[in-house]
Amino acid sequence: MKNAQCKKCLRKFNEKDIYTIQQFQYRKKPPYDWTREFFKTLEIGEWDSFCENCIMEYSKISTEAWRND
Ligand SMILES: [Zn+2]
Repeated sequence: MKNAQCKKCLRKFNEKDIYTIQQFQYRKKPPYDWTREFFKTLEIGEWDSFCENCIMEYSKISTEAWRND
């Protein structure tokens, strides 16, 4: 059942394939506190659901922003 929806691209997908920014806790850099603040400015919280493609994109965007900070 495709009953989850990506907040970014609005695509529907299976609930088991949900990604959230919480997975960025496991990155070494940027620190998770920084990551959380960064996404707050984009109005994205820890419980917002994203598909794999969009979370990968956010991963890239946030890493680049961290480097340019
Ligand atoms: Zn998406």
